[in-house]
Amino acid sequence: MDYIVLDMEWNQPWPGSPSARKVLPVQIRGEIIQIGAVRVTEDQQVADEFQVLILPKYYRRLNRRVSKLTGIKESQLKENGVPMEEAMAAFREWCGEDVVFLTWGFDDITILRENLRLYGLEENWVSRWFNAQMIFNAQTDGSTAQKSLKSAMEIFGIEATRPAHDALGDAYHTALICAKLDLQKGTAEYGDALKSHVNGFHGAELPGCLDRKVFYDYADKRAALTAMSGKENKCPTCGRQMLGSRWFAQPGRRYMDLAACPDHGKFLIRVRLSEQADGTVRVSRLTYEATSEAAQTYARRAEKADPEDPRPSSRRRRIRKPE
Ligand SMILES: [Zn+2]
Repeated sequence: MDYIVLDMEWNQPWPGSPSARKVLPVQIRGEIIQIGAVRVTEDQQVADEFQVLILPKYYRRLNRRVSKLTGIKESQLKENGVPMEEAMAAFREWCGEDVVFLTWGFDDITILRENLRLYGLEENWVSRWFNAQMIFNAQTDGSTAQKSLKSAMEIFGIEATRPAHDALGDAYHTALICAKLDLQKGTAEYGDALKSHVNGFHGAELPGCLDRKVFYDYADKRAALTAMSGKENKCPTCGRQMLGSRWFAQPGRRYMDLAACPDHGKFLIRVRLSEQADGTVRVSRLTYEATSEAAQTYARRAEKADPEDPRPSSRRRRIRKPE
């Protein structure tokens, strides 16, 4: 089995143009104009490469933003682009039978499948695929965000030797990252990584985290936070309802609160809200020890925000902690 690291560039109609109003038999987010791919063998050696330019059939005018980003010119596509059917046949032949696809992000395979469907081509051969970002997050210290290819390269100390936003260049750099991951483990544990991603955890809790849980279907932010500081605010040790203090907002629809159990002391609650498909709110909650770094962040924030004390926090601290 080989891993095929895939990257593509696609064209989109200019908003408001006649192409944008075209109704296609299959809805596509973009029409593929370039495919770049690099093979990584089962023992994780970066091997051969593939690239092809594709002559677009549905969105023939090249969007100038796409052109600027990718460096591809419309004249180039007309001269060197091959029809989609031909490009796909060549790509599939190059891939071989027993392959697993790796991409940086969730978009590429979705768009590839849409394009295959639009052209009436078989799409089952691309059904085994993984977003390498998720594997990367699971196997590094894992911040909460989907990392750009550039920042992932920096983390692994990989220097850019190929052009960015060129399908083969991006595929090559992604392949170098993939070669440093444990792909066998990463693909085997992909389900967990994906679940973490969907639930907003990204496998990225800080030290001192005692519990993680997801809650669904709150009408809005207020209802969600009320439940989190009310009936769902249970002590991780005894399960009794704790008393919350005050929510502080953090970037990315995150909030934190310090809760207390009369018997087991204080715990820091961090939640992240996200909208579900029907507009209701999902909550991903992490519970931390009061001695954790996360709880110290809360303490600093609470001190800064104390509404009853208008003095600057540096001065207040000096006054409150006399030598
Ligand atoms: Zn308790």
